[in-house]
Parts: sequence; C-alpha cells; structure tokens
Amino acid sequence: MRVHLLGVCGPYPASLGATSGYLLEAEGRAFQFDLGSGVLSRLTAVFPPEDLDAVFLSHWHFDHACDLLPLIYRLESLGAVLRVYAPEDPSSALRAVVSGASCFDLRTVASGDELDLDGVRVKVLPARHPVPCVGYRVEAGGKSFGYTGDTNTLPGLSGCYRGCGLLLADGLFPSDLWEETKPHLSAALAARLARDAGVERLVLTHLNPSIPQALLLKEAREFFPDVRLASAGAVLEL
Ligand SMILES: [Zn+2]
Ligand SMILES: [Zn+2]
Repeated sequence: MRVHLLGVCGPYPASLGATSGYLLEAEGRAFQFDLGSGVLSRLTAVFPPEDLDAVFLSHWHFDHACDLLPLIYRLESLGAVLRVYAPEDPSSALRAVVSGASCFDLRTVASGDELDLDGVRVKVLPARHPVPCVGYRVEAGGKSFGYTGDTNTLPGLSGCYRGCGLLLADGLFPSDLWEETKPHLSAALAARLARDAGVERLVLTHLNPSIPQALLLKEAREFFPDVRLASAGAVLEL
C-alpha cells in the first residue's frame, strides 16, 4: 500500500500548493481520496485520472472536491466514466453539477457502509463537520490506512481507526484557536486520537497556510511523539 500526498492544505492552498488530495495505491488498484484545488494537476503528474478505480470524497466543500469540475472536460474528451463515492449533501451546488455529469458514476455513501472492491475493503466512518462528512478506513493485503476527512471530536472515533498503519488526520488548529464548535480538530486532539487508537504512524494534514506549522508539531508531539506534518509530494509506503 502506498499513499501519495498530492495536496495537504485547507481550506485554501499555500502559494503553489494544493488543498486536500491523496492517491492510494493498493493491490494493483488506485483510489483518489478527495480532489481539492490544485490536486488534479498533481494527480495527472503521477497517475492518469481516468484510470483510477474510484474517487472517494470526504465531503463536498470546495477544498476537497472542486477539481472534479475540470476533470469533467478530461473525462468527456476521452469518453471515460469515473466512479465517485461521496456523502449526500443537498446544500452542495458542486454535488449537483457532478451528479448531472454523465462522465461520473456517483454513488452515495454514509457512515457505517462497507465496500469490498476486489480485495480492497473500504469502511466509511463518521465525522463531525458543518456539512455531511465522512472518514475512510482502507484495508488491503494486511495493511490499513485511515483518513479522517474534516472533523472535530466525536465519541468513538478512536475505535474507528484502531491499529491503523497510517492515519492521515485533520489537525488544522493550534490549541488556542480550537473550540468544541469549530469544524476541525486541533493538532493536539488529532495526536490524542492517534494515541488512543494505537495507530502506528500519524500524519497531520489540512494545513492552513496562515497557521505556523511548527506550533502544530510541538503541540501534537506531547501526545504522539513520532507525528509528522503532511508534505505535498511525499510518498508514504505501508
Ligand atoms: Zn477542508
Ligand atoms: Zn470541510
């Protein structure tokens, strides 16, 4: 199993950066998790988007899904159809466009769903965010990868990611900016989640360009010493 960190910012990209987007290769298959601003270009550099087995969206916020729009033109020019798994969200104009594009085979998922894609198992997990949002856990070949999507705290969340080989977690806020009503975890809370779940590796992502990254790392290390910050272009082997 291999994870390409294509875009790691949120909710807007850093200069020359990209928002959420992660390519997962497992068992000879390729799955894209989120496709935010700037991600399509970076994906195209490492893998042909039309050859993906599926795209999984955590939710329909633009920083996670907006590059589906230019992808329409590429797929249409090739006559290709791409499967997209995503939560329902009646408030999303972006979802309305994607659901009306014949180049996408849009499937609705919800927390609790489990998919078996020829030996790659995908569990759809809960998240707490202002719009419907899910996390994912992928298991294949004895390896496991977790991605929280955008979330704040949620009872039972650590159980969802129990023992993951790699957890990619939303750790946007430093502790002094985090509140219970915010849309994201703090770096420290993401680290506590990883510790409580007993994951092997933690990578903090959804990094806000205006928040000092060194502070996030310092606060997270108190709970999970080997934490790393997501770095665009990194390739993580499991
Ligand atoms: Zn986001
Ligand atoms: Zn969001």
